[in-house]
Amino acid sequence: MKYFSTRGAGPVSLDEALRRGIASDGGLFLPERLPEFSIADFDSAESIPQVARVLLQPFFVGSELESDVGDILAETFSFPIPMTELSTGDKSASLLELYHGPTAAFKDVGAGFLAACLSRLEGNVDAPLTILVATSGDTGGAVAAAFDQRPGMRVAVLFPDGRVSDRQEHQLCCWSENVISLKVNGAFDDCQALVKSAMADSQLSSTHRFSSANSINIGRLLPQSTYYADASLRHFRRTGNKPGFIIPTGNLGNAFACVMAREMGLPIGPIILVTNANKTIADYFETLQWLPRASLQTLASAMDVGDPSNMERLRSLIGEADILRDQLGVTSVGDEEIKVAIRQDFEEFGFATCPHTATATHAWRHLDPGLATQNDWILVATAHPAKFETIVEPLIGQPVPLPPELEEILSRPAQAVSIDPDLPALAAALQRVG
Ligand SMILES: *Cc1c(COP(=O)(O)O)cnc(C)c1O
Repeated sequence: MKYFSTRGAGPVSLDEALRRGIASDGGLFLPERLPEFSIADFDSAESIPQVARVLLQPFFVGSELESDVGDILAETFSFPIPMTELSTGDKSASLLELYHGPTAAFKDVGAGFLAACLSRLEGNVDAPLTILVATSGDTGGAVAAAFDQRPGMRVAVLFPDGRVSDRQEHQLCCWSENVISLKVNGAFDDCQALVKSAMADSQLSSTHRFSSANSINIGRLLPQSTYYADASLRHFRRTGNKPGFIIPTGNLGNAFACVMAREMGLPIGPIILVTNANKTIADYFETLQWLPRASLQTLASAMDVGDPSNMERLRSLIGEADILRDQLGVTSVGDEEIKVAIRQDFEEFGFATCPHTATATHAWRHLDPGLATQNDWILVATAHPAKFETIVEPLIGQPVPLPPELEEILSRPAQAVSIDPDLPALAAALQRVG
């Protein structure tokens, strides 16, 4: 399988696309074509790693990793991805729980897969690869957890001092020596700018063999299609219906993986993207003008994206807004509605949802009646509510019990190095720890 940039460059191998993250022309990598499956192709695939094997094997054809696919997928899907039945009044749906990984958010799947691939391709104990990641919260923890203790790999996590929650900070700072936690005296944008300038500095970049693990890497997307395949197959086998999915959306990585699964022939009905108050996608579908903008801060902070980078992939794979809007629904949910949904979820289901997941439960309760009754729905739960306890607990009036994976992480000692947002400070910190 060959990979091309959305802007035309290529072809490159999977290995090259994973190593580079972004294409040389600034575009994003996509496979030259998507394999097509029939439902019967999955007849003997009973577990998620087995579904992943059938679905993802074609993407590895010609890769150095081809013979390691089984091991890579076993490492990636080492935690359960269950579905829970929800019912309220006369309505029912399923909740796809993507939050049972090491850092209790769906990003663990993509980060785990990328780490399993990159450490096999690039891990070198004599000259470790250094993954630089700027984070405002969730991504950094998932990447740190995924690369923790992997020989020949280092991670430097840069986060803004005082602008992540206590629990988030702990999750960025509690790993082994190969993960360097840098508390930057600045904002998230300063962290991101620092990563960019470090990557662009040829001397620093060759000394440390910098690479990135951000959400535009094709290695973050491919494995995410697996849980859509698995959930839709399970639902279809049980009911004969193709379920629709309602997906909390920020940078469009998670939803893009669902679109890919549907394009590959999986039994998936309507797909509805739900954003928070950042409405760039909804406006695009309505006006046919793509107008990226600065992001607004909301309660669903991991979805605060004004310029969703995977839109470039979606336009390249499917088409422009006039075509996209016939194939995808989009709706946006404001902070007040998120609060209402968190309370209502707790009252009706007996458990809390995180602010991101609550955008999906809100959208489900307010679906167009025709759409609602003609389809079965799977709502995508992207993070555990205990990660956002400062928002959720006051709304439900009680503590959210910690899941075992978070409890384990929060019981570890944590430490970070404080740096100013400039290149010499970053270089010194990397030198000291390396
Ligand atoms: C990253 C994230 C999202 C948004 O996912 P995208 O792939 O960026 O659309 C939603 N919820 C949570 C909890 C996240 O961490």
